[in-house]
Amino acid sequence: MARSVNGKEIAREMNDKLRAEIKQLVTGDANSPKLVSISAGKKSADADLYVEMQRKASGYVGIEFCTMRLPETATESDIIEKIKSLNEDKTVTAIIVQKPLPEGIMHDAVVGRIFPEKDAEGIHPLNLGRILRNDADIVPSTPGAVMKILRISEVDLYGKEVVIIGHSAIVGKPLSLMMLNETATTTVCHIGTAKKGSLVKHALQADVLVVAVGKAELVKGDWIKEGAVVIDVGINKMGGKIVGDVNFSECAEKASIITPVPGGVGPVTVSILMRNVLRAYRKQNVKN
Ligand code: NAP
Repeated sequence: MARSVNGKEIAREMNDKLRAEIKQLVTGDANSPKLVSISAGKKSADADLYVEMQRKASGYVGIEFCTMRLPETATESDIIEKIKSLNEDKTVTAIIVQKPLPEGIMHDAVVGRIFPEKDAEGIHPLNLGRILRNDADIVPSTPGAVMKILRISEVDLYGKEVVIIGHSAIVGKPLSLMMLNETATTTVCHIGTAKKGSLVKHALQADVLVVAVGKAELVKGDWIKEGAVVIDVGINKMGGKIVGDVNFSECAEKASIITPVPGGVGPVTVSILMRNVLRAYRKQNVKN
């Protein structure tokens, strides 16, 4: 039976450490780090909940958290104008653009206008590109959370078969590069793999299987190699409950380590976001 990762506990420890670092860094009349959240799309309970998690974590670690809600009718240039003024505002450390955005506005397009050193989520093209060279310090928050969980769980990735299901630009693709940086043998599966009917074949090879698809309980127990590490990034609603992309009870029978949903990757993702804000603050304020 697998050991279930306690993401809340990992996040608590990270947040305690960040809180102590920020306390030590912000002295005298210096401004605290400040994270500005921009929302513009249809109001959604899920998005509001995620923003509330960010607000709570920010308050705990000592980051000032401000929200800006633009009307649902906001255009791409309205959002970009806001970003431009926040980029120039010396009191603003970092910016996050919440999803969903109004229809027709590409998240990538607006995030690309944030100054890379103010990119809270680590998904500006420059920050993503730095992963290629293994010198990113502001990292995409969800892949960063996956790597943190693996490190804390003492999973040695060197030469291991890592299979990632999902190749989005914010989770699967950057994560695959982070895995390569750890010298893992990395396979990325996606809709093409599923259409060819070879998902299970790949999943069964995995020493470490990471699933980031957005399909409730896609991965079944018979997809898992005995003793594998299973990291479930997915967040889905099923029968009034939040579930992951992995059938937890079936896969826990085979795996050695598994992350639950909720309470696995999610809370750690918020802590990585906080860590990014602190790193951005250091870049902007601490002179070498
Ligand atoms: P996304 O942009 O929709 O990407 C999903 C990926 O899965 C795409 O690469 C897609 O391929 C692939 N895919 C779709 N159906 C598939 C199938 N049947 N078999 C294999 N691959 C398939 O989603 P995302 O933003 O990466 O998020 C993925 C999941 O993680 C969602 O449930 C999201 O809510 C969750 N999430 C969680 C956190 C967290 O902090 N825990 C953070 C971010 C996201 P194509 O693009 O080729 O169709």
